[in-house]
Amino acid sequence: MHARYPPEAEAYREKVQAFLAEHLPADWKGIGALDHDAAAQFTTEWRRTLHEHGFLGVSWPKEYGGADLTPLENVILAEEFQKAGVPRGGPNDVFGIQMVGNTIIEWGTEEQKKHFLPRILSGEHLWCQGYSEPNAGSDLGNLGCRAERDGDEWVINGQKIWTSAGHLANWIFVLCRTDPTAAKHRGITFLLCPMDQPGVEVRPIKMISGESEFNEVFFTDARTPAENVIGEVNGGWAVAMTLLGYERGEAAATMPIMFRTELDRLLELARQYGRADDPVIRQRLAWCYSKVEIMRYLGMRSLTKFLNSAQPGPEGSIFKVYWSEYHRIVTELAMDIMGPHGLVPTGRVPASSFQADDPGAPNDTASWAGTFLHARAGTIYAGTSQIQKNILGEMVLGLPKEPRADGGAWNEQKTK
Ligand SMILES: Cc1cc2nc3c(=O)[nH]c(=O)nc-3n(C[C@H](O)[C@H](O)[C@H](O)COP(=O)(O)OP(=O)(O)OC[C@H]3O[C@@H](n4cnc5c(N)ncnc54)[C@H](O)[C@@H]3O)c2cc1C
Repeated sequence: MHARYPPEAEAYREKVQAFLAEHLPADWKGIGALDHDAAAQFTTEWRRTLHEHGFLGVSWPKEYGGADLTPLENVILAEEFQKAGVPRGGPNDVFGIQMVGNTIIEWGTEEQKKHFLPRILSGEHLWCQGYSEPNAGSDLGNLGCRAERDGDEWVINGQKIWTSAGHLANWIFVLCRTDPTAAKHRGITFLLCPMDQPGVEVRPIKMISGESEFNEVFFTDARTPAENVIGEVNGGWAVAMTLLGYERGEAAATMPIMFRTELDRLLELARQYGRADDPVIRQRLAWCYSKVEIMRYLGMRSLTKFLNSAQPGPEGSIFKVYWSEYHRIVTELAMDIMGPHGLVPTGRVPASSFQADDPGAPNDTASWAGTFLHARAGTIYAGTSQIQKNILGEMVLGLPKEPRADGGAWNEQKTK
C-alpha cells in the first residue's frame, strides 16, 4: 500500500524542505549530534528563526501571529522537522503553543487572544502545566488547590506536582477549586497565573535518571488578575479537557518516524556488540520492527480520522498506549544487548526525558541507559495506560462505565 498526500500538500512539503535546506548548517546531522550546551544554544537561535519565518503556532489565525495552515500542512511540517532532526520550538512550547495557546484560541475572549498569543510566540511568556496534585492525578477532578476572589484578583493557595519545565517557566495554567460545595468536576476554574511573584515557589524533583525536569509548585497567597480566567468561573473542567486533547498533538505523524530512526540505531547497536547473529536477539529485533511498521499504519489511520474531523478524538488513546508500551520493551532490549556495559553508562546522556533520544545522538551506553529509564515515564504522563484503556473501553468500544462513587459536593466527599 502506498499512502500519498494530495499534490498541493506535497507542494507545501517542498516549501518546508527548502526552508530547512536554507537555514540548517551544511553538515547538519540532527540536534542529538550536538553536546548539551551547543544544543541549547542552537534551540534558542532556531526558535528565533522559526518565529521570524512564521513557523511557530502555524495553525493559528494570522491576526494572532499564526500562519493559518491547514491540519494537513501542519502534519507535513511536523514530519519534515522530525526527519531533519530539528526542534519545533523551545522546551516550554509544548505547554505554550500546543496546549494553552490552542486552548485560548478555542475558549479565550478576544482580549485574551490578543494579549497572550503573540507573547507565547515571541517567547516572552514561557508556560508550564499545573494540573496534577499529590491527591489528583488520574482522578484529576479531585484537585484541591484553592482560588478565591479578592476584589479584582484571584488568590491561589495549594500545591501542584510533576510540573514539567516549571523551573524554566514564568507563567502557569492552573486548575483551581473555586466552589468546594459543587460536585467535583463542577467547581473548578482554569486560571492563568504569573509565576514571577513571591507567592509561587518551584521546587525541583529528582528523577530516576538523576536529572530534574519536573517540579513541585507551591502557591501561598499567589495572585492573578480576575480577567485571567479561561472559559467560565466554575466551568474549567470542559476547558481542561479541551487542552488534554491537544496534549496528544501530532504524535501520529511524528512518532513512527522517530521510533524508526531509534530502531535503526538499535540494529547498529546490536552489530556493535556482536549480538546481531544471536537468534533470540534477532527474534526480539524482528518483533520491534513489526511493531514500528504497525505503528506507521496505526498513525495513518489516526491521521486520516484527524484530517477528516480536525479533532484528536478518543482514538488518540490507542496510539498513546501503543507507542508508550512499545517503548518500554524496545529500551529493555537495548539494555540486554549492551549487557553489563549498560550498567556503567558512558557518553552523552539524552537531553530530554520524552520519548526517544534526539536524532543524530551517538550510539552511547549513556544514551540507551537514559532512554531506558525515561521510557518508564511514557506509560504515566499524559494519562496512564490504565486510564487510556478505560477511555477506550468506555468511549470507543462502548463498554459499561466503571462504577464511580463520587457524586455530591466535593467538600462532603473529602470528609467521608
Ligand atoms: C515525566 C512526567 C511528566 C509530567 N508532567 C506533568 C506536568 O507538566 N503537569 C502536570 O500537571 N502533570 C504532569 N505529570 C503527571 C501525570 O499527569 C500523572 O502522573 C498521571 O496523570 C498519573 O497520576 P498519578 O501520578 O497521580 O498516579 P495515580 O493516578 O495515583 O495512579 C496510580 C496507578 O493507579 C492506576 N489507576 C488510577 N486510577 C485508575 C482507574 N480508574 N482505573 C485503573 N487504574 C487506575 C494508574 O494507572 C496508575 O498505575 C507528569 C508525569 C510524568 C511521569
